[in-house]
Amino acid sequence: MAATTDTLNDFLPEALRFTAPAELVDIGANLTHESFAHDREAVIERARTANVTTLVLTGTDREHAEQAVELARQYAGIHATAGVHPHDASDWTSELQTAMRALHLQPEVVAVGECGLDFNRNFSTPSEQERAFEAQLGLAVESGLPLFIHERDAGRRMLDILHNWRDDICDAVIHCFTGERDTLHGYLDLDLHIGLTGWLCDERRGHHLRELVGDIALERLMVETDCPYLLPRNLPTKLKGRRHEPALLPWIVREIAYWRGNDEAAVARATSDTARRFFRLEDR
Ligand SMILES: [Zn+2]
Repeated sequence: MAATTDTLNDFLPEALRFTAPAELVDIGANLTHESFAHDREAVIERARTANVTTLVLTGTDREHAEQAVELARQYAGIHATAGVHPHDASDWTSELQTAMRALHLQPEVVAVGECGLDFNRNFSTPSEQERAFEAQLGLAVESGLPLFIHERDAGRRMLDILHNWRDDICDAVIHCFTGERDTLHGYLDLDLHIGLTGWLCDERRGHHLRELVGDIALERLMVETDCPYLLPRNLPTKLKGRRHEPALLPWIVREIAYWRGNDEAAVARATSDTARRFFRLEDR
């Protein structure tokens, strides 16, 4: 049953009714995550109410990418990515490569990924991760799509690999950037885009990002929730412990604007323009 916006707002804590000053694009929402299975439609409706009007759903493996494409077919303003996360890189086979290639041909798919390197947890070995990542770089070249890249504790290796591929790929965003200054400037020197999440709102581990956020030109910066993960820590107390969702993206934009010394509306507008251009959303 489809609930109306009014009905939904009745059940929303006040802080969730915080509306962005300009339309936002959440470039990384894991809405195929099981925690959204029971109320996905309400989540999408709440995002719209908060002026988060466009969602790019992250496809982290074949199954989730296919589900993301299905949702993109059902709802206006929703798009999908299709890739294999470095955690699952050991699953990479030529058969999976063929399936991914077919997904990249779907009009709902706007990027190759999530793919990349995660040397923090090494759920797949580093060599398995590099093999799957390079195969997906090849798929990005074939399809002409931009890349949605995950990198954790692998900045040096990521920079080496992207340096080799930079002339062949069209564009790439390092999503949920959490690295250090040298790595950030390495990415910016390669003319890559940066995605920021609520990590910045975390006073325990995000403070170094607060000093770096002003180094990223607004033409290279995009915003994302990475929900249901990484609930921002700048939320009012009554929202603590809640599942993260796209309707909370305006809180992240507020934090970014604060640390950059920019107007919130200007950051909202600019990051959305950047996202629409990066994912070529106007052509869709
Ligand atoms: Zn990621």
